[in-house]
Amino acid sequence: MALLDVEKLTTYYEVMRGYVKAVENVNFSVEKGEAVGLAGESGCGKTTIALSVLRLLPSGGRIVKGKVLLDGIDITKLDDYQMRRDIRWKEIAIVFQGAMNALNPVFKISDQIVESVSAHEPDTSNSEALERGKKLFELVGIEPSRIENYPHEFSGGMRQRAMIAMALACNPKLLIADEPGTALDVIVQAQVLKLLKEIKKKLNLSMILITHDLSIIVETCEKSAIMYAGKMVEFADVYGIFKEPLHPYTQGLTSVFPDVKAPRQRMISIPGLPPDLLYPPAACRFHPRCPYAMDVCRKEEPAFAEYKKGHFVACHLVA
Ligand code: SF4
Repeated sequence: MALLDVEKLTTYYEVMRGYVKAVENVNFSVEKGEAVGLAGESGCGKTTIALSVLRLLPSGGRIVKGKVLLDGIDITKLDDYQMRRDIRWKEIAIVFQGAMNALNPVFKISDQIVESVSAHEPDTSNSEALERGKKLFELVGIEPSRIENYPHEFSGGMRQRAMIAMALACNPKLLIADEPGTALDVIVQAQVLKLLKEIKKKLNLSMILITHDLSIIVETCEKSAIMYAGKMVEFADVYGIFKEPLHPYTQGLTSVFPDVKAPRQRMISIPGLPPDLLYPPAACRFHPRCPYAMDVCRKEEPAFAEYKKGHFVACHLVA
């Protein structure tokens, strides 16, 4: 059984003009010790999936349909108190993009880690929580005594590492990292991603990595899911996505990473812009931008079907 099974997840945001259909009928799973990358353009629903899994949707956001099974238990059925007491931090933790926004600038990092542990593990003493924090600092490559510093005394990379340490404070089974290196320069970003990979291996941690950068997924994940306009259009292992992308949108995304040893190939560009999810296009949501669109694409939504073992795609071309 997979650690996390997301089935037909559908999340809408209610706004003045109607409903933004941010995520519709999304299916994927994450095995124990596995990293799955969620990729796609801004606004495609990646972060909404993470916020739905954790039930941290902003006001107006609502899971309309679907299941989120954690170890076989549907956590969409839990109330807020149960989510806070049993799931967030203890089972699933998240590292948000922009560590400076997530850390409280007026408290020492030690206080913030101790507070997080006490909130979720009332039986753990403050000194035990502090000791745990120091060990986690060591794990993420920061001198443990620096736990007594304030966030502004850290560089951007160290803050991101401190956030990862804090997210691991209650030993979660699944870590969600939302654009973990976006605000960092490429060298520090590479170090943070290397660290996430090492931690995943050491702790046999499962991970969902959210990014718009496919190269990060290749470096860090075993599987990848491609999102377009709130729909999952392709899911496969990383090799399948890069060597045999089936969906025209995935082909467009992957063609910007040409293989330097392969024969010359034409780059496939993706014209146009993602649609307004208040009024998404009918049937295949990608049809207004798809170079291969056919009549059927405007009339019937393609099923998200298994093309070959473990490789799922939603496209009439592949049916
Ligand atoms: Fe393009 Fe049709 Fe496939 Fe959609 S279903 S991606 S429009 S070919």
